[in-house]
Amino acid sequence: MAVLNQLSSQEAITLENKYGAHNYHPLPVVLNRGEGVFVWDVEGKKYYDFLSAYSAVNQGHCHPKIVGAMVNQAQTLTLTSRAFYNDMLGKFEKFACEYFKFDKLLPMNTGAEAVETALKICRKWAYEVKSIDENEAEIIVCENNFHGRTTTIISFSNDPVARKNFGPYTKGFIKIEYNNLDALEENLKNNPNVAGFLVEPIQGEAGVYVPDEGYLTKAKALCEKYNVLFIADEVQTGIARTGKLLAVNHENVKPDILILGKAISGGVYPVSAVLANDPVMNVIKPGNHGSTFGGNPVAAAVAMAALEVVEDEQLADKALELGVLFRSELNAYIETSGIVNLVRGKGLLNAIVINDDEDSDTAWNICVALKENGLLAKPTHGNIIRFAPPLVMTKEELLDCVKIITTTLKQFES
Ligand SMILES: *Cc1c(COP(=O)(O)O)cnc(C)c1O
Repeated sequence: MAVLNQLSSQEAITLENKYGAHNYHPLPVVLNRGEGVFVWDVEGKKYYDFLSAYSAVNQGHCHPKIVGAMVNQAQTLTLTSRAFYNDMLGKFEKFACEYFKFDKLLPMNTGAEAVETALKICRKWAYEVKSIDENEAEIIVCENNFHGRTTTIISFSNDPVARKNFGPYTKGFIKIEYNNLDALEENLKNNPNVAGFLVEPIQGEAGVYVPDEGYLTKAKALCEKYNVLFIADEVQTGIARTGKLLAVNHENVKPDILILGKAISGGVYPVSAVLANDPVMNVIKPGNHGSTFGGNPVAAAVAMAALEVVEDEQLADKALELGVLFRSELNAYIETSGIVNLVRGKGLLNAIVINDDEDSDTAWNICVALKENGLLAKPTHGNIIRFAPPLVMTKEELLDCVKIITTTLKQFES
């Protein structure tokens, strides 16, 4: 069977192009191995991973403790469905509730499913606790949000590529400007049907937009004032990425509903979760919601191991320190640069803004050149490159990466 032989990069790309739906535009690199902060392509070239699978691999590629937990559990029991109990789910739920300090957890698989779950919980709470009239509940979201790809979630996206020709759209969402407290209060004050405010503590996909200091605290206070649930989508920002366990921890904000995905599994297996306290989570009753794979024993084992690694290896503190170093090194470069306007971010979730038109391909070309120089990153919306390496990186490795990045950028200075 030809497909079992080692393919060249070109052969692998040709196969995907011919047999796969074209729903992504990958950088032309074909990987077949990963370890820690490194990945290797099929020709054996080694790269620093500066995307970490959109922050799913915070613990580094193929972390032995996480992979070990998965292999071990996979040889014992993989799936029972929730028709029966299994001996791992309750352990994981207790572990995660204590870890994140919530009463209850609802397990799902992907980030988008967890967002959908949060929206459903919020709506049910609106009718059964807040007593909003049936079908009248509204949820406030932010412009330029990214919460996933389901029909409901893209209904409140404002990315035309993600939305166009996927209608009709789900109703019940109000879009306001991100980082704008007046807009939030305006919409809360005049609308008793608002049930929730769904927000990313830092907008990752949009280009790593960090809101003003105090935004999350004040937004949470407004939600409390108007009896509205503050729903934090920490699928990308959570699990130590921004230098705290959760990005809301920078402002000591406690969400009413917390959405986790990506790195809660260390990138080895799809795991996502929604956490809330009893007065909110208890609106969910048997039959209201579910998932065949959600809460399976492998997911439970993997997620516990992944969260233990975050604590054992103090990844939040590492991300905080390395992030300061990374931005100060890049800021020093930017002072002399015509091609980069600025670097922004928190912890190891950062981005540089390229000095060129939104629709030019400079950011893409820089990423291709970075790949040639041994570092993998990807443009986000507009002319922005996100830099999000695994958090297990050492200081020496980070400085090596800074050298690759600045050397590459120099090729684009005119
Ligand atoms: C990636 C992401 C999602 C969606 O997660 P999937 O696992 O791709 O469905 C949701 N919210 C945010 C903030 C994300 O970054």
